[in-house]
Parts: sequence; structure tokens; C-alpha cells
Amino acid sequence: MSQFTAKGGRGTLDPGLYFVATPIGSARDITLRALDILRDADVIAAEDTRTLRHLMDIHGVALGDRPLVAYHDHNGERIRPRLLRALAEGKSVAYASEAGTPLVADPGFQLSRAAIAAGYPVRTAPGPSAAIAALTVAGLPSDRFLFAGFPPTGGGRRKWLADLAAVRATLIFYESPKRVGELLGDLLSSLGNRQAVVCRELTKRFEEVTRGSLSDLAGGFADRDVKGEIVVLVDRGEEQIADEETVDEAMRKALMQMSVKDAAQAVAEAYGLQKRAAYQLALKIGGEE
Ligand code: SAM
Repeated sequence: MSQFTAKGGRGTLDPGLYFVATPIGSARDITLRALDILRDADVIAAEDTRTLRHLMDIHGVALGDRPLVAYHDHNGERIRPRLLRALAEGKSVAYASEAGTPLVADPGFQLSRAAIAAGYPVRTAPGPSAAIAALTVAGLPSDRFLFAGFPPTGGGRRKWLADLAAVRATLIFYESPKRVGELLGDLLSSLGNRQAVVCRELTKRFEEVTRGSLSDLAGGFADRDVKGEIVVLVDRGEEQIADEETVDEAMRKALMQMSVKDAAQAVAEAYGLQKRAAYQLALKIGGEE
């Protein structure tokens, strides 16, 4: 047990809703402020009450006689009013998801919306999130990234992946260990052979970071019995360099289907043009036709 002692106590926390980030592996990756909030909040809510209880025990934070309420995807509708009532009574409510940052592929969004709509303060004790941890160690460009969450498994998966092909940013996916091989294969066919990284069990004992081309990674993970928690990251694609004729042709086609503004934006994004230049080209071609 890490002995957590600090001043504070019940009633010292301002009223409002507090989203508390918790560790994604190593229990010591919790912030001192998160522990303060867990110690001082009037009401504690958690996606998994046992996991949070255990974390509080590890750090010597007593629950005392405070309510510890389960709030997750399956009971949100029913439990939300209870948490909002506590906020209406001027209480402080702390919410933690099972691991990492609430709302990031985890419950909390509806609760935050409801609290904001009702005018209650919403605050956070920021901390670990697997997406940011993976980006930190991946070695892929970090100036621009897109968190895509879990890819859909049913119909629409191909289109969902294809839509990401034009995004000029590092792509970050969460995936179950059972499907990581399949995901790498699908990413290869949808996005081409880009550089990618598979991060497994970050901050845990069997942490593993595997870097390579999508083709190599898809081959390497195809027959592997993968265990643990996984983040997959993919580098942005090469910018398309096109000659004037190709861009003109693309703009003509776009103008047949879209407004001048939308055509300019689509062609600018596809060919990495300045928006203003693309707009002027769209006006020129549109005027000729
Ligand atoms: N809210 C969490 C966050 O901020 O990262 C994510 C919750 S989501 C339900 C769980 C997924 O996050 C896992 O399936 C995995 O993709 C990723 N994940 C969580 N912990 C991880 C870890 N230690 N290493 C790698 N991926 C992890």
C-alpha cells in the first residue's frame, strides 16, 4: 500500500462533477490530485466499482460511509438522474471508468452532457490514456493525430477504414487482441503499406511495442495468439503530388457532384493544395463550364 496522506477531507472539494483518470496498468500512475478528489468527493461513481475500490485500497484512500455507485453503459439511463440529483444538492461527484480517461472509448459522455446542460461545473483530474501513452512511445509523427477508437466489426467496416485514408494525421485505434491480426490486414488493404506500430500491455509487465510496415506487422500478427490490451497506430500516407492536368481533371469531376466550396475543399485535401488556390481554380473551371 502506498501511504497517501494529505490535508483535505470531506466537504473541502468544490461542488461539481469530476472525471478522474486512473492508471492503464501500473497502479502508481495515478495523480496526487486524482487521489485528493477520490478522498474528498461526496459521491463516488465508477464503471467498475471493484476495480476502483481496489485502486483506492492500494493508495490508502478510505471510502468511509460515502456511496460508491456503479455507472456504466448498461445502467447509465437509470443511474444518471441519481448523480444529477447529488449535483443539484451541491455535492461533489467523482467518476472513474475502469481504466484510463473516462469518455475516451469509455462511459462518461452522456453524464458530462447532462451535467453541462443542467449548469453544473464539470472538471477533470487528467491522467493516463492508452491512446496518448501509445503515441508517446510509437515514434510516429505526433504533431497531428486522430483517435479513431475501436473499428466497427460488422458492415460498414471497409468504408469506415477507407474514409480514414485521406486523413493526414497519425491514426490511433483500440482493438481487442483477438482481432489485431485481422485489423492489420484490413488496414493494409484500405490504407496501403504505411508504417505502423502495435503497442501491447503498456505500463504493464509484458509491455511490448512492435514497429514496422503494415505488411510486415500483418504477417507477424496473423497467426499469433495475442494476449493483453492493444493500441494500433498508423502513419499518415504520402501526400499525393499531382500535375496541373490531374488536379484540373479532379476539380472538373468534383464540380459535377458538389458545390464550388465543397469541390475546392475536397480537391485541396486530396492533393495537399492551399485552400485559397483550390477555391480560385474551382471558380475558374466552374465559370468555363
Ligand atoms: N478510457 C481508456 C483510455 O483512456 O485509454 C480506454 C478504455 S477502452 C474500453 C480499453 C482499450 O484501451 C483496450 O481495449 C485497449 O485497446 C486500450 N488499452 C487500455 N489499456 C491499455 C494498455 N495498458 N496497453 C495497451 N492498450 C490499452
